[in-house]
Amino acid sequence: MSKQIKISAPKGTHDILPTDVHIWQYVEKNIYDICQKFGYNEIRFPVFEQTELFNRGVGDTTDVVQKEMYTFNDKGDRSITLRPEGTASTVRSYLENNLFNTPAPVKLFYIITCYRYERPQAGRYREFRQFGVENFGSSNPLTDAEVISLAMNLLNKLGIEDLTLYINSIGCSSCRKKYNELLKSYLQMHSSELCDLCNDRVGRNPLRVLDCKNPECHDVICDAPTVDTVLCDDCKNHFEVLKQALDSIGVKYTVDNTLVRGLDYYTKTVFEIKSSDLGAQSTVCGGGRYDGLVEQLGGSSTPGIGFSVGLERLIDILTKKNLLPKQNDSVDLFVASIGDNASQAAFKLVNDLRNSGVSAEFDHLERSVKAQLKYADKTNAGYSTVLGDDEISSGVISVKNMNSGEVRDIKIEDLTAENLNF
Ligand code: ATP
Ligand code: MG
Repeated sequence: MSKQIKISAPKGTHDILPTDVHIWQYVEKNIYDICQKFGYNEIRFPVFEQTELFNRGVGDTTDVVQKEMYTFNDKGDRSITLRPEGTASTVRSYLENNLFNTPAPVKLFYIITCYRYERPQAGRYREFRQFGVENFGSSNPLTDAEVISLAMNLLNKLGIEDLTLYINSIGCSSCRKKYNELLKSYLQMHSSELCDLCNDRVGRNPLRVLDCKNPECHDVICDAPTVDTVLCDDCKNHFEVLKQALDSIGVKYTVDNTLVRGLDYYTKTVFEIKSSDLGAQSTVCGGGRYDGLVEQLGGSSTPGIGFSVGLERLIDILTKKNLLPKQNDSVDLFVASIGDNASQAAFKLVNDLRNSGVSAEFDHLERSVKAQLKYADKTNAGYSTVLGDDEISSGVISVKNMNSGEVRDIKIEDLTAENLNF
């Protein structure tokens, strides 16, 4: 027989094992609680979409679309892409399902896997998870403040305090146009000091240059004219009200005039939340306003704002800061048994207990009583008992608290979650 080669998970992906899943459930529960408090409803959409959605929705001059998408033709020769983010899909669904006919603003959130063909490294994967929020129908800067405070609230509720929130306004489409011109002529004057990729970007999308991580471009970027110099009165005022609103609820921020974000669709407010615990991949949350996106994807002009949080990075911070929840006990009661008769009775008792709301387990592997109790201990059962012929005839069992060692006799018919609490 030929030896089979072991199959490993694709590069850049990772399993979430039963020993860690409680961490994810804990984060997800906090997300559900906060979204409920803020009035955001969950939306779920497909893992894959027509490629065109991301070309138009994320923007075809972005790194995501140019280099990072998992795109393939399906058997019907349609171009399909695994979602690299959630905003474009949310807008597609909002339009396709007429959610614009529901009361505005439409407040949605999602927890999704995303796919980007990137070089895997700490905090950077090919399959990763995002929590995202999108709000459609309000151009009010107080909505921007609400969205930002939702993100900060989540992070603070999980115990993370030392984060930096960076905010900026990149203006409406006419401010951006002005700024693009200004930036383009500045960058063209300094083309010899820029990397090849950035020189290529100057013509297509000069804002992208500001996002370049190449040290070669650093000085030119630092001295570039900033967007605040060209903002119109309306955009300036929008940004002022946002800052006042954040001040009024005690959310601290740093204005960073060079912050432009990686995706094409942003207008006015952009923001990022960074953690010094994350090293090179320091951004845990990124978002902004996208007042032109719904129209760009075929809807009527509708303002919108949202963000997404990288959940692997978030959990990385929780791990480094020792803020992880304890693993749950596996079952409340392990019912060990002696002999064939009792093993049938244990199986039935466990079934009855589960039906009455007690989590319970029996021995599946016909082990000795000693081995069964060792298993109960290793799997963190809260309580254990041994069922034999005597217990079956008397209807009374001895239940042991596996942590304290305390033992109590309990009538089988009286076994409930409440009296398993000693
Ligand atoms: P970066 O600059 O780190 O590449 P980005 O601007 O591409 O981030 P967004 O598209 O704004 O990221 O995605 C939102 C969040 O998703 C990021 O702030 C980050 O926390 C997370 N994220 C993005 N790409 C990855 C990835 N490849 N692996 C893990 N998390 C990621
Ligand atoms: Mg990226």
